[in-house]
Parts: sequence; C-alpha cells; structure tokens
Amino acid sequence: MKRIFTLALTLAVATLAGWAQTQVVAHRGHWNAPGSAQNSVRSFIKADSIACWGTEFDVWMSADGVLFVNHDETIGDIEIQTSKARQVAKQRLPNGEFIPTLEQLLRHAQGTKVHLVCELKPHRNKQQEALAVKKILKLFRKMGLENRVTYITFSYPGMRLLIQQAPKGTEVYYLNGELSPADLKQLGSAGADYHYSVFMRHPQWIEQSRQLGLKTNAWTVNDTERMRWCIDHGIDFITTNEPETLQQLLAH
Ligand code: MG
Repeated sequence: MKRIFTLALTLAVATLAGWAQTQVVAHRGHWNAPGSAQNSVRSFIKADSIACWGTEFDVWMSADGVLFVNHDETIGDIEIQTSKARQVAKQRLPNGEFIPTLEQLLRHAQGTKVHLVCELKPHRNKQQEALAVKKILKLFRKMGLENRVTYITFSYPGMRLLIQQAPKGTEVYYLNGELSPADLKQLGSAGADYHYSVFMRHPQWIEQSRQLGLKTNAWTVNDTERMRWCIDHGIDFITTNEPETLQQLLAH
C-alpha cells in the first residue's frame, strides 16, 4: 500500500513538475546480450534492437590520428593513444570482433534509430585530445549523424572544445561530478552526466538543473533500487549495464 501511495505521489509530482519519462542509455552498448562485448558493433546493434533511447561508447585516438571505440586506454598490450592505427586495428574484442574504428561504428549507426552517446576519453596529450575533438566532429558531419549525437567527457578542456566547436544545439555533458548546475550552465554544457552517488549527495542539483533548463544523466545504475531512486527523483537519463531491467521497471 505504501509503495502504491509513493508511486502515485511520484506520478503526481512528476506531472505537476512536467517531468519527462526517464530515458534508457545502454552503457558501452548492450553488451550483456549473447555474442556481444563492450563497445562492439554487436553491442551497438543490440542496444538499437531492444529500442534503448541511446547507446554509449568510448572514443580514443591513435598516435597517427585514427579514432577507435574502446573503453580502456589499452587493448591487449597496446596503448591506443601512443600506438599506430595498424597495430590497434589488429586487436580483437572478447566476442571475436576486431576493435571498431569510430567510422565503422557510425556506418552501422546509419541504419539504426538509437541515439549516439559519444564519450571523448581524456588523452594525456591535450593537443592530441584537441585534434580528436576536431576529427570526431568532422566524422559525425561526414556521416550525416550530427543530429543524433550527444557528447560526454570527463575532460574539462575536452568539454570546452566540444561546446565551442560542435554545431549549435549539440548537447555536451560533463562526467566528472564536481561542477554545480550553475557552473555547467555558464559553460554552455547541456547538463550533468554524473555518477549516481553525486546526485544522491546533492539531490538539489536535479531540481536546480531543471530550473536552469539543463538535463541530468546518472551512471552506471545497475540495480533496481538505485534505478528507482533516479526515476523517482526525476533524473532524465539513466546509463546502465542492464538496459532491459530498466526498461521493465519503467514499463510498470
Ligand atoms: Mg564511457
């Protein structure tokens, strides 16, 4: 009974406040699916096939300027940012696929509907990172996907470059967790894409964001209790390794 009351109250508050339904973002694709692997083409296709709102992936640039999709800075014993593309491209993911270049991934994206949540990884060499920003923006333009991408990054200088250089209206979110909604608004960011514990420590940031016209995304929320907390507090997007669990929760 208490639960029904809480749910009814949440819905009433949500309606009054004009909250939109929380959207599901698959973290590094839907890699929990059979035959999938983190940041693989397969994980991307699977996220689209279960109708996730978005799918997140991580981008590094090789020493000779080729963009690759991978979470870690290394694959096998190869460090992407200091290696040549021909060495990186030989590496395989746990599901047997070769590591995808960003261009390969975006070619697959052209036949899908899922929103692209592209994470720029912080490179040690900031000139290299600035070049990665230019190349990422150019590639999304070339592939006709500028209107389907959101950029996210832990890199403060990377965020600033993306905001300055992306087409007007492109959403750029910051991941690092230390900036208030007012700070983000001033920088021109679309909002806070923070670890759920940051929002739990500063729940007022969720409402402040809304009032400033910013959005909120919490990561990486994998258990139903924390998913419920985020939904009940009006978080706009949840990034999760368990997209199907979150979809089921949102459907009830
Ligand atoms: Mg990521």
